[in-house]
Amino acid sequence: MSEVRVRFAPSPTGLLHVGGARTALFNWLFARHFGGKMILRIEDTDTARNTPEAVAIIFKGLRWLGLEWDEGAQEGGGNLGDYGPYYQSQRSAVYQQYVTQLLAADRAYREADGAIRFRMPKTPGVVNDLICGKITFDRTTEPDPTIVRKDGTPVFHFVNVVDDLEMRITHVIRGEDHLSNTHKHIALFEALGAPPPRYAHIPLILNPGGSKMSKRDEGASIGEYIAQGYLPAAVRNYLCLLGWSPKDNREVINISEVIEKFDLPQINRGNARFDINKLYWINGEHWKSLTVTEYHQYARDYLTHRGVNTAAVDETYLTGVLDIVREKIKLGRDLPDWVEPFFNEEFAYDEKSLTVTLKEPAAKSRIEKLSAAFMTVSEWTAAKLEETLKSLAAADGVKVGAYVHPCRAGVAGRAVGPSLYHMLEVMGKERALARLRRTLTVIF
Ligand code: GLU
Repeated sequence: MSEVRVRFAPSPTGLLHVGGARTALFNWLFARHFGGKMILRIEDTDTARNTPEAVAIIFKGLRWLGLEWDEGAQEGGGNLGDYGPYYQSQRSAVYQQYVTQLLAADRAYREADGAIRFRMPKTPGVVNDLICGKITFDRTTEPDPTIVRKDGTPVFHFVNVVDDLEMRITHVIRGEDHLSNTHKHIALFEALGAPPPRYAHIPLILNPGGSKMSKRDEGASIGEYIAQGYLPAAVRNYLCLLGWSPKDNREVINISEVIEKFDLPQINRGNARFDINKLYWINGEHWKSLTVTEYHQYARDYLTHRGVNTAAVDETYLTGVLDIVREKIKLGRDLPDWVEPFFNEEFAYDEKSLTVTLKEPAAKSRIEKLSAAFMTVSEWTAAKLEETLKSLAAADGVKVGAYVHPCRAGVAGRAVGPSLYHMLEVMGKERALARLRRTLTVIF
């Protein structure tokens, strides 16, 4: 096979839809599998929706998913590669040349109103799709398609074909909603004297209700996953399963294995069903298998993204806190709240701490006894702190909880949190004692 060249050709709409992201992913996987190139082409001829922000959302989503493209559009209207500009809005001169070519060859004609139509062959249109198989379209009653509107703007089908031709695309991998027009695209290629690329139409993604997923459905936008702190590798893993599978029921798969195995004929013909719970579960599996370094990096990035200044926190303290909250967290969005009391010496007290735990008549004396006992602990470890707290409870003849609850409220203001003894250990003696002192001052 000559060099594989595929493209992702989104129209900027203001969001990167899961369907679009999956199309980009399948193109990327195919390019990576065959050592080819993925081109990013922005189909921005709809000027009303064509804003730099809408294009930036596409760049951001693709990069977040790790789907780096080899050639094509980039920020600031610049281009990567030899076949640009990769923004259709900047390619009018190219389209004009091809219109002239079709008119000269009498494969297109001008209407009285100035619109230009393509002389569509009346012979059956045959598409040999790599996923959907052979499909034949009857064209005997079809009107000739318009390729340039009367206002002079070329239509989607035409520019799409010209660009695939010019950019030497070998495989067009896109959503099934484009299948019914593909015979027109092939006819245009033939009229332009160029061999058409191979086509592969991937099945639609349905929402849990069974209808085509729209941009209003929950989980439809990649931006939501970024905001909620899903792991990009987990989202990418889940998107792989929307139409492809390793055939042995595994759902958590490493991307390098997908690249190695990916090919178009194995894509399911049936529509894929979007399931946010499955994605949530896959995210949890990826979360568990992050290495400590990866987890720290991810958590730091996410917290920064949410406006938490992690650089202001002592490094050892930061990583200690991240380690003890890890098992409590499923998504990045849980992180800011879990770490907040650790980084704020002026932490607030939650409802339960204020109205129940610290209202308990013995709370004050227990915090005082804990402070005194902790003061003498020389080895500040979770095990020693547990031992110290338990012996105070035993001496009073009360349950361990009678000391755990006020202690937790006293050092963090929260009724729930990670293991108390580990929290204390990570806070360190000085900080923990200062926090207990503060509670004694502000609450009692
Ligand atoms: N701009 C088209 C879309 O977003 C792309 C069609 C194609 O991939 O050929 O649906």
